[in-house]
Amino acid sequence: MIRKRLYLGLLAGTMLFLSGMLVYIWLSFFRQDTGALRYLLFVIVMLILAGLTIVVIGFLGIIFSLLAEKDLAILHKPMNYTFSLLYPIVIWLGKLLKIAQDRIQCSFVEVNNQLVRAQRSKIKPEKLLVLLPHCLQTAECTKRITIRTENCVRCGNCPVGGILDLCDYYGVHVKIATGGTIARDAVKKLKPQAIVAVACERDLTSGILDCIPLPVLGVPNTKPNGPCFNTLVNLTDVEKAILFFVAEAV
Ligand code: SF4
Repeated sequence: MIRKRLYLGLLAGTMLFLSGMLVYIWLSFFRQDTGALRYLLFVIVMLILAGLTIVVIGFLGIIFSLLAEKDLAILHKPMNYTFSLLYPIVIWLGKLLKIAQDRIQCSFVEVNNQLVRAQRSKIKPEKLLVLLPHCLQTAECTKRITIRTENCVRCGNCPVGGILDLCDYYGVHVKIATGGTIARDAVKKLKPQAIVAVACERDLTSGILDCIPLPVLGVPNTKPNGPCFNTLVNLTDVEKAILFFVAEAV
């Protein structure tokens, strides 16, 4: 929970900041007799207030869902708004407080994963897409696996072969992406009902935000050789994530 608290704390801080801004606008401008501008400001303040109310409801939904480990389907929309709309401000606030961006993104992924787990939604294997980053393939390998995963001979020199074995065993789709565009195209083409994504926290965060409202379970890779180069992932974590979505369907 400690890591999740970082993102939740920054979300709460962001809402306080926005509320403060609202009060500031009200006190600074609205009391002045500025003619037509007064009415324009009133409309703007009311719109921001309505938006803020929605994100506060979403925030409360997120907290309840995390604490009770229950899904609140009725609040999915406001929860998703809170998650996606406030993200850039959360990152900005984190920068202001000198909190490393990757720590915030790590916390974001954990909060997202727990919210997805609270949904306990089971789907058919063919409706699940496993997205892998190209950097899992060892640099020495010459097989062109981004075009066809079948080109991988599963030699065991990198984690890709093991994950492909898992995907075959459970009958789920798998795509190896070199970037966000290919990943987005795969989602458009296959129209999955859920995604298991392996990537660094930064790419997981942008992928999760891109895919909202699709449930995405993020499995962070490890970078023993530095970012984007010969990365690794725990196969058990990938299998657990697959099983979370398809366990009762296989
Ligand atoms: S498992 Fe072997 S063949 Fe497949 S991508 Fe990794 S190194 Fe290449």
